[in-house]
Amino acid sequence: MQGIKDKIRTIPDFPKPGILFRDITTLLLDPQGFRKTVDELVQIHMSSRIDKIAGIEARGFILGGAVAHQIGAGFLPIRKKGKLPHTTIAEDYDLEYGTDTVEIHADAVSPGDQILLIDDLVATGGTAAASIRLLERAGATVIGCSFVIDLPDLGGRARLEQMGQRVQTLCA
Ligand code: 5GP
Repeated sequence: MQGIKDKIRTIPDFPKPGILFRDITTLLLDPQGFRKTVDELVQIHMSSRIDKIAGIEARGFILGGAVAHQIGAGFLPIRKKGKLPHTTIAEDYDLEYGTDTVEIHADAVSPGDQILLIDDLVATGGTAAASIRLLERAGATVIGCSFVIDLPDLGGRARLEQMGQRVQTLCA
């Protein structure tokens, strides 16, 4: 999606030398770009009932919150370890070096909830896959995932599709 892709900048050597970081803050600053992004993120999933949007910390909060407002759904934050104040459930996932953990409040999912997962970017798909496992353990059905940016060489989209997910990405 050219209009959206043009508004994202790439920062070399952030946060570490050799990494090309896709920075969506320039897209968020653009009123038409932000609105179009929010509209497109939910587009292919509109045929499903969506009770909640789950957004992954931190940029998934900005995008997911806007989508939730747009479609009249609740918003469920998926946070890194130790940030949520009430009783949590957690799911670990592997990084290139070490592991990381995502958490939700144990009472955030109601039985039968249908949830759309949103984040800004899918790379290896590790964060999203762990988030899906966590939401499903809590009793939700994850009806799909949406990301602004796909890094196809890292295989995340394919990995999520192998989990049975319907995946929307807006640019690569
Ligand atoms: P994955 O788990 O798919 O390997 O990595 C995706 C996660 O890392 C997402 O939460 C995403 O926000 C973050 N991430 C990794 N690389 C980038 C990047 O270049 N730009 C942005 N904005 N986020 C990134």
